[in-house]
Amino acid sequence: MGKQPEGKVSTKIMDAWRKMGAWCYKVHGSEYQPTGIPDISGVFMGHSVWCETKMPGNKPSMAQWKKIRDLRRVGALVIVSYTVADAVQMLEHIASGMHTGDDCGCLYLAPVDLREILRTKAYKD
Ligand SMILES: [Mg+2]
Ligand SMILES: [Zn+2]
Repeated sequence: MGKQPEGKVSTKIMDAWRKMGAWCYKVHGSEYQPTGIPDISGVFMGHSVWCETKMPGNKPSMAQWKKIRDLRRVGALVIVSYTVADAVQMLEHIASGMHTGDDCGCLYLAPVDLREILRTKAYKD
C-alpha cells in the first residue's frame, strides 16, 4: 500500500500531524485485526484522532463506516480525508480549543447513519 497514491497521502498527513505535535502511526490491515479500521491512528492534545484516507471519487466501505461510527461514539475524532489539508484542519480544530467533546457539533464527531449511507450509496461489501 505504501507505493499507492493513497498511501503517499497518508504519509504526508502523518508528517503534517507530527509537525503539529501529534503522535500517530499507519494502521496496516491484516487478517489479525478487525476490518475497516481507519488508515491513521493518533493522539493529539489528549484526543484520540483517526484518519480514513481516500482518493477523490472513493468512499469509505460499510466496514469502514462502522468503525468510524464506533470510534466517534466513544469520543474519538475521525476524519474521512481526501487531502492533507482536510486532516490538518481536524487537529487545528482541537488546537483552537473549540472542540468541546460530545456537544461540540463538529463533523469529526458527527453520528454515522448507516441506513442513510446504504440508501444513497452502492457498496460492494
Ligand atoms: Mg483508506
Ligand atoms: Zn469539535
